[in-house]
Amino acid sequence: MPEWPPTGRDALLARAREYARTVDIDVDPDALSWEVSERAKRRAGACRYDPATGEVTIRLARRAADAFSWNEFARVVRHELVHAWEYREFGEAGHGPRFRAQADRLDVTTTCPTFAAARLRLRCTDPACDWRADRHRAAATVTEPERRRCGRCGSRYEVEHVASGETWRTAAGYRGARERIEEW
Ligand SMILES: [Zn+2]
Ligand SMILES: [Zn+2]
Repeated sequence: MPEWPPTGRDALLARAREYARTVDIDVDPDALSWEVSERAKRRAGACRYDPATGEVTIRLARRAADAFSWNEFARVVRHELVHAWEYREFGEAGHGPRFRAQADRLDVTTTCPTFAAARLRLRCTDPACDWRADRHRAAATVTEPERRRCGRCGSRYEVEHVASGETWRTAAGYRGARERIEEW
């Protein structure tokens, strides 16, 4: 299996499109526009339609790719492909009976897929290194950061609690931050 998630927008799009060609639905992925949103924090995917040009665009969230396993992300691609098929065949899309019939067949959710942005981010302390990693849970990488090193250059890293902006580099720092953070 190729690496997941792929690094970079082009690799992510290539992976999604390649997968889309294997999905059993009557829409040509190469006739669609594909985009990656670097900003989306909740919607994992979206499908837009321009009635003037007939262009259908599938937009996938970078953060969803980082948060999801490949199987979960593939389900997002299938969900948006059903919308793309609806737009191309009928000029409209939704989650009604027509959608649900395809959703059952393709094992996708019948609401637009969402994801939780990562609660925690690891960041290398070496200014020359741009290594970052997202974490959802307070595992040892988060609670005892001094025992691990940057995944790329081996320097120390810092943990950030994204919502509060609190950062720490040690287990003691984690305990202090945890007391200050009201909403973990
Ligand atoms: Zn949807
Ligand atoms: Zn580093």
